[in-house]
Amino acid sequence: MIISIASGKGGTGKTTVAVNLALSVKDAQYLDFDVEEPNASIFLKAEIEESEDVKVEIPKINYERCDFCGKCADFCVYNALAVVPSNVLVFPELCHSCRGCSLVCPRDAIDWRYRVVGRIEHGTAKDIDFYQGLLNIGEIQSLPVIRSLKQKIDKNKNVIIDAPPGTSCPVIETVSGSDYCILVAEPTPFGLHDLKLTVETLRHIGIPFGVIVNKDGIGDRKIDFYCQTEKIPIIARIPHDRDIAHLYSKGIPFVEELEDWKIKFREIYDTIEEEVEG
Ligand code: SF4
Ligand code: SF4
Repeated sequence: MIISIASGKGGTGKTTVAVNLALSVKDAQYLDFDVEEPNASIFLKAEIEESEDVKVEIPKINYERCDFCGKCADFCVYNALAVVPSNVLVFPELCHSCRGCSLVCPRDAIDWRYRVVGRIEHGTAKDIDFYQGLLNIGEIQSLPVIRSLKQKIDKNKNVIIDAPPGTSCPVIETVSGSDYCILVAEPTPFGLHDLKLTVETLRHIGIPFGVIVNKDGIGDRKIDFYCQTEKIPIIARIPHDRDIAHLYSKGIPFVEELEDWKIKFREIYDTIEEEVEG
C-alpha cells in the first residue's frame, strides 16, 4: 500500500505525521519528496549510504549545421532559447527537456548534453528503507527529481510518501498513484483555506483521502464543519500538547516516547488499509 501525506502549505505537521506513521508500521519505506527542503532524515536519523545524480537533457547547438533561422526559439514556449545573428543562447534552468526544438529544427542542428539538477539519497533509518530527493540550490524545476524518486517506490513495502507542500504540479506528480492520501491540517482559517485547495486537487485526481487535524485545540472548529459537510473522514486528531511539542523541539518522533501513540498510528494504518482493500 502506498500512503502519501500532504498538506496545503509547509509547517502543518505533514512530516511529523509521516515520520510517526512510518515508525509505527512494519517493513516501511519512507520517501521524502519535499525536494526543496527535505527534513525527515533529521527526525528519522537516517544514515545515507548511497547517492545518485538526477540529470536532465538540454540542447547543445551544433554550429556546423545551424544557420540561425530562429525556428527553435520560436517554438520554445518556455523561452529557454534565444537566437541572435551568430549565436543560439540556451538558458538551461528554463528548459523542460521536451525535445520539441530538435523536432522543428530544419537542419538537424540540435544535439543534447546532460545537466545535473539534484540527487536521490538512499539509506536506512531505524529499519526503514529511506529515500530523499534533493533539488540543487538555484534550480526551479523539481519535477525531474520527483520523477526519479518515484522510481524508487517498492510496492512490496508499506510505502509512506512525504509530499511537498502546496497544490501545484510537484504535489500532483508526487501523490498520483497513491492508494490513499492523508491530509494534515491545522484548525485555523489558513489551515481550512489550504485544506479546501488540497481537497479539490485530490478529488480531481481521484485518490481517496482523509484528514488528520494537527495541533487540535489551537483554533476553531471550522475544519470539523467543513469535513462534515463534504463527507471527508477525520481519521485522527493530534492535540496541541506540551509533551509532543517538547519532543518535536528535540527532533524526537513522539511515537518513540509515547507508546500509546504508536498504537494509534498503527490503528490509523489498519483503518486505511481496510478502506483501500474494502
Ligand atoms: S532551428 Fe536549428 S538551425 Fe534554426 S536556429 Fe535553431 S538550431 Fe539553428
Ligand atoms: S527541449 Fe523543449 S524546453 Fe528545452 S529548449 Fe527545447 S523546446 Fe525549449
